[in-house]
Amino acid sequence: MDYKDLANIIFPDVKDISYYEEKYPRRNLEEGAIVTRYAPSPTGFMHIGGLYQSVVAKKMAKQTKGVFFLRIEDTDQKREIENGVNDIINALREFDMLPDEGMTDEENYVGNYGPYKQSQRKEIYQSYAKYLVEKGLAYPCFCKQEELEEMRKKQETAKLRTGYYGIWAKCRLIPVNEAIEKIKNGEEFILRFKSPGNPEKKIKHRDQIKGNVDFPENDQDIVIIKSDGLPTYHFAHAVDDHLMGTTCVIRGDEWLSSVPLHLQLFQALGFKAPKYAHIAPIMKEENGAKRKLSKRKDPEAAVSYYGELGIPSEAVDEYLLNIANSNFEQWRRQNPDAKLDEFDLQLNKMSVSGALFDIIKLLDISKRVISKYTKEQVYEKALVWAEKYDKELKQLLEENKEYALKVFGIERGNVKPRRDIAKWSDVKENIIYMYDKEFYKSKPIYEFQKISDKEEIKNIINTYITKYYNNSDDKQTWFEKIKDLSEDFGYARETKEYKNNPEKYKGHVGDVSTVIRICLTSRSNTPDMYEIMNVLGEKSVKDRLQYATQNM
Ligand code: GLU
Repeated sequence: MDYKDLANIIFPDVKDISYYEEKYPRRNLEEGAIVTRYAPSPTGFMHIGGLYQSVVAKKMAKQTKGVFFLRIEDTDQKREIENGVNDIINALREFDMLPDEGMTDEENYVGNYGPYKQSQRKEIYQSYAKYLVEKGLAYPCFCKQEELEEMRKKQETAKLRTGYYGIWAKCRLIPVNEAIEKIKNGEEFILRFKSPGNPEKKIKHRDQIKGNVDFPENDQDIVIIKSDGLPTYHFAHAVDDHLMGTTCVIRGDEWLSSVPLHLQLFQALGFKAPKYAHIAPIMKEENGAKRKLSKRKDPEAAVSYYGELGIPSEAVDEYLLNIANSNFEQWRRQNPDAKLDEFDLQLNKMSVSGALFDIIKLLDISKRVISKYTKEQVYEKALVWAEKYDKELKQLLEENKEYALKVFGIERGNVKPRRDIAKWSDVKENIIYMYDKEFYKSKPIYEFQKISDKEEIKNIINTYITKYYNNSDDKQTWFEKIKDLSEDFGYARETKEYKNNPEKYKGHVGDVSTVIRICLTSRSNTPDMYEIMNVLGEKSVKDRLQYATQNM
């Protein structure tokens, strides 16, 4: 009896690996093309770190004319949730990170290397496991859960490394005939890898992100096929990334320490190992210490959070590239209008320790992104958000689309567009005062600044309405008239003039404009007042100014 017999007893009817090697031919891509993937488990929650990995992986594939695919790693079926795959795909779609190949819903996929869901690849893993058994590189382990527990306790008491290795790997020593006998007798077993490693020796690994790292060789006989017949992550990843033609595994750095094991698996299976790029997690600062963003504690850990706040997905993607490469910021300054695709992302420029999550920075990017949208885009996107999260805003926008477009058009589409919206949840607060009904309903409170004498204010406003305000003035005439108005009341026409001779004036044109602005909007800070007046229209401007004189 030899390993072949053992392999045949364990896997009587699986295909030979040559079948799969032929079925999934090597990809025919340009030199340097990166084939990579996002390989999440469908646990029903997409972490910002997962999106970060996808952004990096998709970018690297795209910029080298390679392939980015989505593989669902669902071999731990206890952790799975219903619709978990669709949740992931929807999140990827929202952030414009859909892959070139991979799952398209819970069951279906596109691409020539599928299925791209591990639970649908059971026979494939079994073929490769059989191959290892045949070569004497994998063996059945009959240890019971309790035995393993006991072993671990002994190791802990003796302050030894825990695990199944060396003298502890007792099923490794079971002769083939005996193993066959046990299987024939119906004893339960799992399959373990027979690690050739010696932890006294070191392996050198050159990581695409972390650089050169040394590790002791792996000597753990890890489980490759579990009792449910499904593979473990380690084994499945090696088989899949080989057959799917991955050239660079881009994944979270919690897997860095598994590299020695993974390289061993690739070697035992006779595969060429891919390159690895281990991404450091996104961190958060708390009480002066850095820690990983936590699913439990930090709402910003879930990608759904950004949609709820109304941060455009483009802004999130840009933010993630921004933390991926520190030269991104400079690139953006030099190329304010360039598409993200034009940025050249470099894995070796990624931070080795985790980047800090910075919401201020994200909102800043978001403001810039939104400032570049046309008024129609702002309208559409704000409406999509409002439909889900703010019925009042939805109504406001739908009631009079033309008017809403005018409001969004204020200071937009010019060289220095307004940058006052960071997220769609800011929109209502940002525009509500432009709606007469809402404006009066809110019972405006006028908080005057430099000029605060009510009689003076009333006089200024009345004079403005009767003597100066004309709805059809162009901007320059409009402003000249405010200067005339200022002069009438003893305020300097120019700020500079006032600064040079403060004793000659009560104030300057800016103070007078502020009074008009506050009476018009009940705010001291608004976009361009000339444009606001145009959008409001003559009747509304006059009514509001008059209302202010009576209600201040
Ligand atoms: N399923 C693994 C995870 O979610 C994937 C790691 C990998 O990308 O290989 O962490």
